Amino acid sequence: MQTYLKNGYIVSMDQQDTVFDGGGVLVEDDRITAVGKVDPRLVKPDAEVIDLQGKYVLPGFVNTHVHTSQQISRGVGDDVDFICWLHDRMWPFESNMTEEDSYVSTLMTSLELIRSGVTSFAEPGGQFVSGMARGTAESGLRGKLAKSVMDCGEGLPEIWQRTMEQELEQQVVDLEKFHNTADGRVQVWFGLRTIFNNTDELCVRTKELADKYGVGIHMHVAEAKEEKEYTYARWGEGTVKHLERLGVLDKNLLAVHTVWLTDEELELFKKREVKISHNPASAMRVLGFARIPKMLAMGLRPSIGTDGASSSNHMDMVDEMWLTSLIHKGWRLDPTVVPSQDILRMATKWGSRALLDEDLYGSLECGKKADLIVIDPHGPSMMPVNDKIAALVTAMHSANIQSTMCDGKWLMRDRKILTLDEEAILKEACDRAKAIYKRAGIELPDRFPVVKV
Ligand SMILES: [Zn+2]
Repeated sequence: MQTYLKNGYIVSMDQQDTVFDGGGVLVEDDRITAVGKVDPRLVKPDAEVIDLQGKYVLPGFVNTHVHTSQQISRGVGDDVDFICWLHDRMWPFESNMTEEDSYVSTLMTSLELIRSGVTSFAEPGGQFVSGMARGTAESGLRGKLAKSVMDCGEGLPEIWQRTMEQELEQQVVDLEKFHNTADGRVQVWFGLRTIFNNTDELCVRTKELADKYGVGIHMHVAEAKEEKEYTYARWGEGTVKHLERLGVLDKNLLAVHTVWLTDEELELFKKREVKISHNPASAMRVLGFARIPKMLAMGLRPSIGTDGASSSNHMDMVDEMWLTSLIHKGWRLDPTVVPSQDILRMATKWGSRALLDEDLYGSLECGKKADLIVIDPHGPSMMPVNDKIAALVTAMHSANIQSTMCDGKWLMRDRKILTLDEEAILKEACDRAKAIYKRAGIELPDRFPVVKV
């Protein structure tokens, strides 16, 4: 089956970042078979032909850090400090979730991802890879799923107090069951939650297993100031240096947040080709500013993630691109740093590189997977479009994402989600969230006096 998108503004994100004005994309089954000036003889008589009338086509966005299991906890941690957020809100909430909750939460996340033009994501760890795998398979998205892995740490809920062997064993079981399912869209990685909650031995064994299975490791790294204080007090060095000493720092490590890094640690990232996920919204909330301008100047290629709904609320890559374009300028007092073209690279091909899939998607090129989005700039918030590339970062909203295709299938067309029953999922997610709040004993205080009428 062929789909031919013609007469578009094709932002290919290929090696030269070529843009084809008035160009086309030809899709056959799950692959892109022509881009740019498409030879009409390649288009079969029964192909679906869509005249884009100048709309944009881009590769689907890659969200390299999104907690799908936290989606239904949205609002649980607004305006509270980090320790209250973690100990009194997030841990009680997450530890009271069931496998079915995790599944519905993943469906709920998928809706927001698809609507904001995401076709591929990495999930750092809920408790139930099985639930997340089911949700991802149904959504039509690509996901790298990991379990939240912890074998030490103070104050953990009882059901999370597990040994290293239990954690490793569970991950191998999940991997053997779900890796490369749903036509390869669902993949399973290893997870390390944070250096606070992972023993050295677990880190080392995880790396060995990830190498053995040829998959990545997803870990929160140098996330908070407290983490830096902890590692320096314990080992006299930062998390990255410590991981280097353990032999964990490598090209299959996806390091998330990476805020509190020394120059030496940035050099180690470069040397070891460590993958980086920048999460600007949660950074601004409490973590601090990752040194993205410096990383770009060094030739590092960071990607972008949204984090979880309990910490940054918007699981919207378009918002996250916009924030990325703003926070470093404000922090550095330099409006020229982190330009729009770099942000588009971060959200597309550098994202696929971070997920070890740069040969598969992240750009519109012949032979790659048909993961793409159609963007309609029409409307008062994006028009007039004068700087066509910058507008995608500085002016676009996710409402401008008109259609999303993953693996050659439309997940959304003309803003209608095709793979999932949106209203049913919203209802069920809200009901389940309410029940978990109740089970976990979390009560959010009224901020204004409420009069029931
Ligand atoms: Zn996270």
